[in-house]
Amino acid sequence: MRESCDSNSACNDIERRRFLRLAGLGTGALLLANALPNQVLHAAEKTSTPPKPKNVIGPDEALKRLIEGNERYVSGNSETHDFKDEREALVSGQNPFVAVLSCADSRIAPEYAFDTARGDLFAIRVAGNFVTDEGLASLEYGVAVLGAPLILVLGHERCGAIEAGVKAVKDRTVFPGQIPKLTNALQPSIEQVLKQPGDLVANATVQNVKNSVERLKAATPLLTDALGNGKLKIVGGLYRLATGKVELIA
Ligand SMILES: [Zn+2]
Repeated sequence: MRESCDSNSACNDIERRRFLRLAGLGTGALLLANALPNQVLHAAEKTSTPPKPKNVIGPDEALKRLIEGNERYVSGNSETHDFKDEREALVSGQNPFVAVLSCADSRIAPEYAFDTARGDLFAIRVAGNFVTDEGLASLEYGVAVLGAPLILVLGHERCGAIEAGVKAVKDRTVFPGQIPKLTNALQPSIEQVLKQPGDLVANATVQNVKNSVERLKAATPLLTDALGNGKLKIVGGLYRLATGKVELIA
């Protein structure tokens, strides 16, 4: 049934309801949609005709595609991406098939690591790849508005932020500037594995990914709604520096 509107407020209500149908989400999305300014709703409307139809896939297919992209990257068979055509196709909007929370480390580069093109991967990066409030808000936007069916938290070997966190916890090292904000955020994951056998930095890296995944899985209402509706999967991975291989660990 075609809805029509004869006033601004009626139009806004119709747009919100249409957005919810597009998003296919529950009560959390309802809260979001009611609070969304019209510019965001218009952006959401634009994603109803996705610029990348092949990205309209479910969580399992998204994960399979991510792993296959990493295999191409590891073996040196990455696809050639036509940036010029991609730019033009994406003027109208975006519908990435994955959102990645990764470390800021310059050796990681998630778009390369999964052989993705522009418009495929929604990236949030912070040294130590832990969940900040702003990072969570970005991921909520990626899922509830842009429709990303998959979130990957990506840790990596020899992470400088984790190493600094270990120094802060074990040696009481105090870092200058705002760096303690990073080490403080990582401290709980490091303390959880202090008594574990093996390498403390490696163990803390894995624990930090697991804790970040758990925090995202508990993020109400938007991510929990999408998880409950089967529209989202949240996984954790570890990037191996020497090979580029990403191993799923959560
Ligand atoms: Zn790092």
